[in-house]
Amino acid sequence: MSMRSLYKARGAFSNKWPICAICVDRTRGRTTEVDLGYGVRVWLCETHASSEFRNFRAGRDFVLTLQRIWQANACLTAARHRALQAHLAAVRPKAREAARTLPGSYAWPAQRAAAERAWAAGTPLHATLQHACDPRRYGDARPPSRRTIRRWHAQRRWVARSTRSP
Ligand SMILES: [Zn+2]
Repeated sequence: MSMRSLYKARGAFSNKWPICAICVDRTRGRTTEVDLGYGVRVWLCETHASSEFRNFRAGRDFVLTLQRIWQANACLTAARHRALQAHLAAVRPKAREAARTLPGSYAWPAQRAAAERAWAAGTPLHATLQHACDPRRYGDARPPSRRTIRRWHAQRRWVARSTRSP
C-alpha cells in the first residue's frame, strides 16, 4: 500500500516556496502566489499559474480543481467562491468568441438551406432527419442535433421566403 505524504516527498522539491496547491506532492520547480481577487490568494506552480491552464475549457478546469481542493480543506469560503465565479465570468466572453470563429460548429447555413429546400418540396421531416444529422457531412465540425433540425423545421423559413417572392 502506498501512502503518499509530503514527508516522504521531501527533497523532491524546494523548501524555498510553498508547494503548488494543485500538484501537492508532485510539485516541481518554483511556485508563485496568484491573486484571484476578493482577498483570495493561492500558490501555484508555473503550469498551474499559467494563463493557458487558467483559461482552459473556459476556466472550468481551474475553477473546479480549486473548488474541490478548498472543499477538501473545508475552506471554500464565500470569498473563495466569489473569486472562482469571477474567474469564470472573466474567461467566458473569450470562450464564446473562440466558439464563434470555429467553422461550422455553431451554424450550418448550407445544410439548413438544403434541408429547407427538401421541406419546401414536400419531403417530410422524419425523412430528412437522418441525412441532416449525418456526421460524415460535416467533416471536423459537429453535426447539428436532431433538436436543431426540428427547430429549423418548426421555424418554417421556406414558407416566409415563398410568400415573399412573386
Ligand atoms: Zn501545479
